[in-house]
Amino acid sequence: MQLPRFTLAAAMAALMLVAQPEPAAAGSGAALVVGAGVSGLKAALDLATKGFTVTVLEARDGVGGRIQTESTPFGPLELGAQWIHGTDNPIWTLAGSRSWKLLPSNSESGAELEATATGAKAVTDAEAAAWDTQFAKLETYIANLQANAENSETLQSGVDKFVSTRGIAGRKKIGLDARIESNWVQEYAASPSKLSLNWFDNEPEITGEDSILAAGYTATLIHYLESALKAKGGKIVLNAPVTNIAYGTSAGVTITAGGAKYTGKFAVITLPVGVLQSGSVTFQPALPSAKAAAIKYLGMGVLNKVILGFPDSAKWATGNWIERIPLLTDAGRWREFFSLRGITGKPVIVAFTAGEAAKYPAGTTDDELVSGAVSALRGMFGAANIPDPTYSYVTRWHEDPYSLGSYSVVAPGAKGTERTALAATLNRLLYFAGEATSKTWPSTVPGAWQSGIDAATKAARDWA
Ligand SMILES: Cc1cc2nc3c(=O)[nH]c(=O)nc-3n(C[C@H](O)[C@H](O)[C@H](O)COP(=O)(O)OP(=O)(O)OC[C@H]3O[C@@H](n4cnc5c(N)ncnc54)[C@H](O)[C@@H]3O)c2cc1C
Repeated sequence: MQLPRFTLAAAMAALMLVAQPEPAAAGSGAALVVGAGVSGLKAALDLATKGFTVTVLEARDGVGGRIQTESTPFGPLELGAQWIHGTDNPIWTLAGSRSWKLLPSNSESGAELEATATGAKAVTDAEAAAWDTQFAKLETYIANLQANAENSETLQSGVDKFVSTRGIAGRKKIGLDARIESNWVQEYAASPSKLSLNWFDNEPEITGEDSILAAGYTATLIHYLESALKAKGGKIVLNAPVTNIAYGTSAGVTITAGGAKYTGKFAVITLPVGVLQSGSVTFQPALPSAKAAAIKYLGMGVLNKVILGFPDSAKWATGNWIERIPLLTDAGRWREFFSLRGITGKPVIVAFTAGEAAKYPAGTTDDELVSGAVSALRGMFGAANIPDPTYSYVTRWHEDPYSLGSYSVVAPGAKGTERTALAATLNRLLYFAGEATSKTWPSTVPGAWQSGIDAATKAARDWA
């Protein structure tokens, strides 16, 4: 049978390629990137800049991942990342170099109130200072335990020892719980029972004041990355949930996403830890044991927001933060409120719920959560001062199939090497990035950004 001319020509070309493989020119290969969050977009941009042909596969119908800014009558409001924490990081530097307006967000400014059956009362300065001192002692106690604790121990076990050896009860216990909530549960988005005693805080301290991007993270960082990538010829495929990653195939890497197959010489994987743990993406061959253990012992914290926009007539405490000691009936919610009024001038309050309390039981409705947050505010500031909100948004990051949580934590059982093991390259075919791979700025936007740079640098070096 005679082959049609074009088929014959294609077959001959393929044979010639097999017979005489041309070494690829530096950066000329096809690179795949899984995930269009900060880490994926930054890795893709750097690879495209180095001359690779880049395709980003993203499950959602838009880019940004855990950065999602809503445009609202109250200005841009963040559903995910809110702050640039400190000044010693590449996002703060980038904001300066691109002249993105930053609004200072003093983390110390605010009020502390204690809910009562009929309303709330202010925590006195003397009691607040005593609770701060007591928490500082707990921190020292935990640091000392870390020298000898088993890796299986939880932060909660350390707290329990402190409480029992010091006989902490009554008002002191209320104060200790309040400080644990604001310093650890809200910070790491996880309850102490879900954190590794030895490794939960194994990262450098952040220095410098927090700030907020006036135009929001999406209009600045994400827009910059997306447009720069497209200008370099990078392609982003949306609505393409990856289900299988086969590495070591004849093509290099073959990825199944949204029913289609994509091939590349190598791939950068930026899947969040929650997604990696869920098994919704399979790897062929299965990930080696060191990588699987890293995924197992990095947990996913949960931080959820109830964002409320009020009429201008609403009144609450000045300052950025309102700490609230809740009632037992609050189910661990309504402990921490962030007011944007002193920062953006808009009457907006964000109620944060973290850890186990943020994994709302099935059937919990948005209305229930909004009215719970509003009732807590009315209890503190009076019903006359807190009218019905005219805007609300409830996040449920724990149920989002493409993050399954808010950001990574180090879970009990970890050895402290998990972030490095997660970042390790597999066979010069799979490069891993994402906030969970960062040892310097884990769980944050700068960590995600830097991990994208690192993965692209390693891949470009291997494939030069
Ligand atoms: C409520 C909240 C508050 C936060 N606050 C701050 C803060 O104030 N400051 C700060 O620095 N950080 C904060 N963070 C953390 C910060 O948002 C993240 O660390 C960072 O955005 C993570 O970027 P990433 O690229 O690693 O992951 P992601 O942004 O999650 O990117 C991964 C991408 O992969 C995609 N994906 C998932 N599964 C698949 C699949 N199967 N196929 C294809 N694509 C898939 C996702 O949709 C996503 O786009 C917060 C996060 C949350 C949720």
